Amino acid sequence: MSECTHDCSSCGENCSSRQEPQDMLEPLYEKSNVKKVIGVVSGKGGVGKSMTTSLLAVAANRKGLHTGILDGDVTGPSIPQSFGLHERLLGNADGIIMPAMTNLGIEVVSVNLMLEEETQPVIWRGPVVTDVIKQFWGKTLWRDIDVMFVDMPPGTGEVPLTVFQSMPLDGIVVVATPQDLVGMIVEKAVNMAKMMDVPILGLVENMSYIKCPDCGKEIRVFGESKIEAIGDKYQVPVLGKLPIDPKLTEACDNGLIENLEEIYLNGAIDALL
Ligand code: ADP
Repeated sequence: MSECTHDCSSCGENCSSRQEPQDMLEPLYEKSNVKKVIGVVSGKGGVGKSMTTSLLAVAANRKGLHTGILDGDVTGPSIPQSFGLHERLLGNADGIIMPAMTNLGIEVVSVNLMLEEETQPVIWRGPVVTDVIKQFWGKTLWRDIDVMFVDMPPGTGEVPLTVFQSMPLDGIVVVATPQDLVGMIVEKAVNMAKMMDVPILGLVENMSYIKCPDCGKEIRVFGESKIEAIGDKYQVPVLGKLPIDPKLTEACDNGLIENLEEIYLNGAIDALL
């Protein structure tokens, strides 16, 4: 038997751990209601996946959609910081998690809202991480969410794979920097989604350029963008390009991402929904 990929859908072996994909789906809590679930993935960490998740949520919220964020980047959770959330998550009498709410009404769950100290490292192993994410999906009260963005664990390994199988993702957005687009990192993420049979709704190129504050010229620090070529290759739309913008970093650092004037991804929401 060849090495197990845990992708039973493309494997003919009848081993003891064989599961049909629908068996692994974590049911939503009976009082929850989530219309659309979009995963935000990247081939590796540090490319702006959380930034993109937050900006997409802000853009959806500005369109009047009731928006949720499930922070599945459990070992590097940065969503609460971007929205200035620091309170601890509460559970109701049935042990169901109540999401935190941002100033403008986005509902958020994150491990960082559960730790005694926000600076405590999360050193859990894969199965614990996936268990927590399953609870964020199935043991949380998600009230009338029009669209939920899931900040997926980075990479294309076991943990993101299990998350793919645990919740009914309507599709994913792949985030990459121009440098990732040169190599195989993005294509790995795209291929993982294909293996899992989850549609890829679009690509976002982060750190695409810097805009000169004096003359407005766009400087492509990493060379010319390859994202259109990758989009064409996989027949996936390009949803947006984010510049390296110190205002984005500053807003995230100060918990003020919802106050940003320019969020670059407004146009992405119509393409996604
Ligand atoms: P990931 O979720 O992929 O690990 P993050 O979204 O947390 O990456 O981004 C890593 C760091 O880079 C964060 O401090 C974030 O504020 C900053 N950052 C990401 N994208 C941009 C950008 N386009 N302009 C400025 N800062 C950015």
